[in-house]
Amino acid sequence: MIDIDNTSLQYLHGVGPQRAKILSEELSVCTLRDLLFVFPYKHIDRSRIYTINELSTEMPFVQICGQFVSFETVGEGRKRRLIAHFTDGSGFVDLIWFNNINRIQNYYKFRTNYIVFGKPTVYGGRINIGHPEIDPADDHLRYFTGLCPVYSVTEKMRRHALDSRALSRIICSLLESLDEPITETLPSSTVKALQLMSLDVALRNIHHSTSSTTLKAAIYRLKFEELFFIQLNILRFAHQRSLRYRGFVFNRIGETFHRFYDDILPFRLTDAQKHVIREIRKDFCSGRQMNRLLQGDVGSGKTIVALLCMLIAVDNRFQTAIIAPTEILAEQHFKFFTEMLSSLPLHVELLTGSVRGHRRQNILNGLADGSINILVATHAAFEENVVFHSLGFVVIDEQHRFGVAQRATMWQKNTTPPHMLVMTATPIPRTLAMTLYGDLDVSVINELPPGRKAIRTVHLYESSRKELIDGIRSQLNQGRQVYVVYPLIKESENSDLKDLESGYEQLRTELPDYVVGKVHGRMSSLEKEVVMKAFIAHEIHILVSTTVIEVGVNVPNASVMVIQSAERFGLAQLHQLRGRVGRGTEQSYCILVTQYKLSEATRRRMEIMTQTTDGFEIAEADMRLRGPGDMEGTQQSGFPFTLRLADLTSDVDILEKARAIAAQILNSDPTCENPENRAMFLNAERIRKQSGDWSSIS
Ligand code: ADP
Ligand code: MG
Repeated sequence: MIDIDNTSLQYLHGVGPQRAKILSEELSVCTLRDLLFVFPYKHIDRSRIYTINELSTEMPFVQICGQFVSFETVGEGRKRRLIAHFTDGSGFVDLIWFNNINRIQNYYKFRTNYIVFGKPTVYGGRINIGHPEIDPADDHLRYFTGLCPVYSVTEKMRRHALDSRALSRIICSLLESLDEPITETLPSSTVKALQLMSLDVALRNIHHSTSSTTLKAAIYRLKFEELFFIQLNILRFAHQRSLRYRGFVFNRIGETFHRFYDDILPFRLTDAQKHVIREIRKDFCSGRQMNRLLQGDVGSGKTIVALLCMLIAVDNRFQTAIIAPTEILAEQHFKFFTEMLSSLPLHVELLTGSVRGHRRQNILNGLADGSINILVATHAAFEENVVFHSLGFVVIDEQHRFGVAQRATMWQKNTTPPHMLVMTATPIPRTLAMTLYGDLDVSVINELPPGRKAIRTVHLYESSRKELIDGIRSQLNQGRQVYVVYPLIKESENSDLKDLESGYEQLRTELPDYVVGKVHGRMSSLEKEVVMKAFIAHEIHILVSTTVIEVGVNVPNASVMVIQSAERFGLAQLHQLRGRVGRGTEQSYCILVTQYKLSEATRRRMEIMTQTTDGFEIAEADMRLRGPGDMEGTQQSGFPFTLRLADLTSDVDILEKARAIAAQILNSDPTCENPENRAMFLNAERIRKQSGDWSSIS
């Protein structure tokens, strides 16, 4: 029996050391199993052989079977071509080549059956097929009938005669040489319950199938396989973690929570907010460490949910911290928290990079001796010298702005890791969340507080400057404030900064009655802070800025968001920027300004923005336009999987099923010790080793 995991490729028929090296370099294929999991990206239907008298020029690619009658070379120079007269008894066609004339003429034999594949055309009243693919008919019957696989190959592979067909031949002969079926990786109960094709049959069919129904079943099985093992590993990892880390139990809902909820909370919570708080309370009481992702669109009210849960931690005599990605945002949270909690006997402090010297030392002391109950912080909290007396609960706001390693440092800040709530307003599609944050429990706030007016979004060209300024002026006249954002993708790009500067000057001349301010990344944080504070205090009416204001900033009186060169932003970022307005009771506007000439994809992005304000819908659209690996919000944490077959946009059902079944299996056999799960376990381990660092997820 051939061991497909430990047999080197080079001993395979048609491979040898040199091609083996190329396969390993170009496709990371090292073992026979790897080779079997190189999947074709499409199949061409070659199940039917036509007779020549049936052919017409309306037909797409077709195949015929017959013999060469004669060759003839015609024309001169660049028009020189080889014409082969070919027949199957029902009629004649001319096969035409413009290159490799000598080689072709010498290569094919008379009185031998060949299969010819190509697109029929008419020239000089005769049916022609230009540059056809030709195989010996007996070879064809083995490899190229039915649904023929097409593999993607690199230029280097092609240079070593490893094109798609060669690959197909190698894989088929490997499959033929296996004397036993490939070991099933899924538990037989799963295969039976879902009526899946066996792994062996599925692999054989994806590489060479005779019917589209079988091929479909094979693809389904292999997609399931792919998603199942990712989910199984994610869930195994999460399970191991939960065994390793017990969690603090917060079983008391005490005085601070009740006093805040009954006497201070300035509005009624939405049902979605209440629901999330209940989910978190349940985790707090479970005895396991909570690791929860809270997804909620911009403005859906995540901060207050965090605050209420932090009060539960305080009621249970624990310290708690909320961490934001920018100083502006941390300060805003601090202001909100201190105002909200002013009548309660709580000690709240702010720790950022700019808190230094004596003040900093006092805060560090207060954290260490337990006298500070609530810490609002930036990255500064990650530092090693920030030591807590009894940290029980950590909230990470705008979590996609942080690296995984950074967040993980908070785990070390107590002997038992604190409960973790990570929040994001960059919704990502559910399928992606399940894969990327699959080991986190997910809560969603899917409604906005009542009374919000939907933001109106308009797409304008740069040439409509007058319309733009008139619109801004009318809002300013009504006492509103305005953001004007310029792209500054890399802070080092001078030309971008020039755009911002000249935009700033232009606005000052166009709207002389109003105060225009600017913030960008080249300014010191103190300078930025002064301008932001003036904007919040309504001393500045128009704020010209880069995306430094992208996350979290809350100025409810600002009702207009103008995004210059909007074509240079991705959907998620446009949505985030738009979320800076629409926070008060007034009608708000988002104006996307672009040049006239736009690519198809950009035009589509602008359309999506004007059509919907639903962050989840936008995230889905973003994933469809860009593919999961390139989405904002995933780049930071990195996309740890390469999917060979499954597609997170279209295979939602398969993914959900795979995850549910993986959870079910682990539920009854958490460490995969049941003999029925043995092969599954080994395969999961193999995949885990191949895909590297699983701790890099979430
Ligand atoms: P985000 O989810 O984007 O972080 P915030 O927490 O900043 O949103 O909330 C946006 C605004 O909505 C804040 O001014 C907040 O006080 C307010 N808010 C939150 N929840 C409610 C509610 N249930 N009813 C009314 N206003 C609310
Ligand atoms: Mg927020």
